[in-house]
Amino acid sequence: MHRISEIEEIVNSESEEFRRIFYRIFSIRTCDGELSLPREIREWAKSRFGECERQRIVRITNKLSHESTLFNELRAKRPLDAKSEVNLEVKDCAFCDAIKRTPADVFGRVVGRHCLTASNIAKYDCMHAVVIFKEHNPLVSDVDVIDDIFNVVETWFEKANVHNPKAVYPFFMWNCLWRAGASIIHGHAQALIAEEPYPKPLQLKKIRNRYFENYGSEYLEDLFYIHNKLRLGFKFEDTSVFVYLTPVKEKEVLMVSKKLKSFAKPLSLALKCYYSLGVMSFNVAAYLPPLGEEDLILLRLVDRGNIETKTADIGGMELYAGASVVSSDPFVLAEKLRNQQLNLPSC
Ligand SMILES: [Zn+2]
Repeated sequence: MHRISEIEEIVNSESEEFRRIFYRIFSIRTCDGELSLPREIREWAKSRFGECERQRIVRITNKLSHESTLFNELRAKRPLDAKSEVNLEVKDCAFCDAIKRTPADVFGRVVGRHCLTASNIAKYDCMHAVVIFKEHNPLVSDVDVIDDIFNVVETWFEKANVHNPKAVYPFFMWNCLWRAGASIIHGHAQALIAEEPYPKPLQLKKIRNRYFENYGSEYLEDLFYIHNKLRLGFKFEDTSVFVYLTPVKEKEVLMVSKKLKSFAKPLSLALKCYYSLGVMSFNVAAYLPPLGEEDLILLRLVDRGNIETKTADIGGMELYAGASVVSSDPFVLAEKLRNQQLNLPSC
């Protein structure tokens, strides 16, 4: 299996055609960070980090989106203080009694088999629903449940748009547990529909348009071609799945499809893979076309770190340098996802 520290050699051993497309989108810089250990901490440092006096840092930048990631696997070995107690059970959970204890939208609720909508009591934006799962446990991976969440969300977008026809820009997200920004443990996703597109989906659309004008091909398809060729991606039915080379944080997986419901199975697969690796807190988001238009949908899934630690997974580098510091190796996750797919009974 490849390692991210070898990415430059891996890419440069590929065909000229591949490199042309790769370097059209990405740039790579590899360097070694050096340090000198005082005698007093030498033993401790070596036992915890292994060889750390010279450490390989790989920086990959998506030149079109300006996403940039610094990979250093030693970062995962840092001592993180302040572990907190974790208990996912909550007494007297309002979301367990959602009909009575959560507000409805003025145009009513959408009720599915495994979830229902509420109106967010403290809204991010004017049209903002919470999709409350019937099960309290937030660690959902069942395909039927995820499929139902997407059904309910799509119906909510339509109902919300009837209520306000100017609101045509939908956004779906699922923040699981506190590290991902969720304030309630009970499983829930969120849906917004706005009169103005949110900046990141808009930026993606602009990149795709410009890319098509310049190269005559679809940016998201070329992105998948690159990752698939490097064994970082695979097709799951009609969905392209890949472990992204410029992840926003740990273990980011991207999926591309034309229908929101097509993501149910591959997302279920990726979440099962996450849970098997101990990931419990994650964000999912879908960049959807304006209501009434057909286009590719990009879904992103990212690990937000160990729920037992108090140290935040983002700091000044992510917020202000615009570069994400990541320790997990995309090749390792891609291998795990592929194995998970091979072990599926239906495949
Ligand atoms: Zn609950």
